[in-house]
Amino acid sequence: MKKFISRRDFLQRSSRVAMITGLSGCGILLKGCSSKKEFDVVIKNGRVFDGLGREAVTADIGICGEKIEKVGKIPAAKGQSVIDAKNLAVCPGFIDAHDHTDVELLVNPKAESSIRQGITTLVSGNCGSSPFPIAGEIYDEYRDNMKESYDIDVSWRDIKGFFAELEEKGMALNYSTFVGQGTIRGVAVGFNDRPPKAEELERMRALVAENIKNGALGLSSGLEYAPGSYAQQNEIVELCRVAAQNGGIYATHMRDESDELLEAMDETIDVSRKAGIRLQISHFKVAYPRNWNKIDAALAKLEEAKKEGIPVYCDRYPYIAGATGLSSMNFPLWAKQGTTDEFLARLKDPTLESKFRAFLVEREKKLGSWDKVVISSVFTEKNRRFEGKTVLEATQETAKDVFVFLRDLLIEEKDRAGQVIFMMTEQNLKRILAHPLVGVGCDGSAIAPYGPLSKGKPHPRNYGTFPRVLGKYIREERILPMSEMLKKMTSVPARNFGFAQRGALKKGYFADIVIFDEDRVIDKATFKNPHQYPEGIRCVIVNGQVVIDQGDHSGLLPGSILRKNM
Ligand SMILES: [Zn+2]
Repeated sequence: MKKFISRRDFLQRSSRVAMITGLSGCGILLKGCSSKKEFDVVIKNGRVFDGLGREAVTADIGICGEKIEKVGKIPAAKGQSVIDAKNLAVCPGFIDAHDHTDVELLVNPKAESSIRQGITTLVSGNCGSSPFPIAGEIYDEYRDNMKESYDIDVSWRDIKGFFAELEEKGMALNYSTFVGQGTIRGVAVGFNDRPPKAEELERMRALVAENIKNGALGLSSGLEYAPGSYAQQNEIVELCRVAAQNGGIYATHMRDESDELLEAMDETIDVSRKAGIRLQISHFKVAYPRNWNKIDAALAKLEEAKKEGIPVYCDRYPYIAGATGLSSMNFPLWAKQGTTDEFLARLKDPTLESKFRAFLVEREKKLGSWDKVVISSVFTEKNRRFEGKTVLEATQETAKDVFVFLRDLLIEEKDRAGQVIFMMTEQNLKRILAHPLVGVGCDGSAIAPYGPLSKGKPHPRNYGTFPRVLGKYIREERILPMSEMLKKMTSVPARNFGFAQRGALKKGYFADIVIFDEDRVIDKATFKNPHQYPEGIRCVIVNGQVVIDQGDHSGLLPGSILRKNM
């Protein structure tokens, strides 16, 4: 198949990238085109969706440097490079509203699984966890873990250091991040379930302010995880007040997404009300069969909050399974206090066994069966054979009961194991995705089918989220018009997260652009075989540079860090 852009163009463009980088490093503003033609790139004859919800119109787009210079009629002769987008959709690059990529960009800056979905901006640092600031007491554990897992040297301790590391390596797409409330609590209070002392609360408030001033989008929480969950509502409100004063927003994985979902929504909305902060509810869902009928009440709560004037928005991935660490949800939060070693010591403690067993009995009632839980990743070769198997299968194979199996595995893996949990329903998923207050987030990371990021059987959302929404839910199931869904993937998150001049195809906006085939776009990654790129995403442009051209990654790294307040 014909390439959009010739190799020689890529070579020319690559050398130009080096030059431009040098210039902008000296603080010179880029203006106009770097080629002798009127435009560096012209995208011809595409079905252009502006990202603002309007129906597609046939138009051309002219790009100069990193910006869109013109949308309209442009003769091909005016472009240094010309992309033929006839019969293809052209829209703003997708903004992944909920992502977990961080050190993955240092391992592989090409951001393969994300950029190939059409994602041009990641919103990361979610669920209360960010790779900064790193507390003194866990720095060694974190450093050793990163070295062992990815051969990365952790040189940073704070957001400035992490951003410097990212910028030195470069990245294929734009990156933005929250600072994690769990991470901050770990630094200031430690890892035990107790309220903060006055000076510890002060320290946390100062850390929230400092991180947002240095570019974090706001505060994220993961209130089903230790140690973030040890914070009560008033503590979250205090931190959110500081975040709001600094222009930040609050993204939350709520305290409960199942039996007490509605109560957790009340808590969350009340945080926003008290702190006066914009709210992003993460991976909005109604988990486990016995709660599925709460969907009407849950959506009604969102709509009521909106009516009241609470600035609330949500994100969701297009799958009925979630994914998290294997020890999460299967063991009580009190057991996870302290360090990993302390958690593992509790697992070995015979006096606690009956409590753990009782917890797992309740867990099985929620799930229905242990065939709903798949072991997605382990760390050691020894247990590799369990990857992709359900806990039910693994217990049968090992002739262990669920408690003994999970205990032994977590001890052997030092708690470095993941799970995929089937807990949602297709009907609710469609209603959530179509809802005007819900956008799209992968809840995954930028991984790759090769190298150190290719391990395990991770959730297919890492590769398939955006193409799956477009192919399965828009083209096949028609839950919304294409233009409406694209708006929720582009201009709406750009506005919510404060990304200036992004998320729409307009003159003066950054040229973050996806060209895709509406008839063919679809995810290929499955739970059994997740490391597969999607189909139908033909071209991805980040800040005016072509990163994906007909399935080939150009190797260019034109992404930048999108900092709050800058
Ligand atoms: Zn989460």
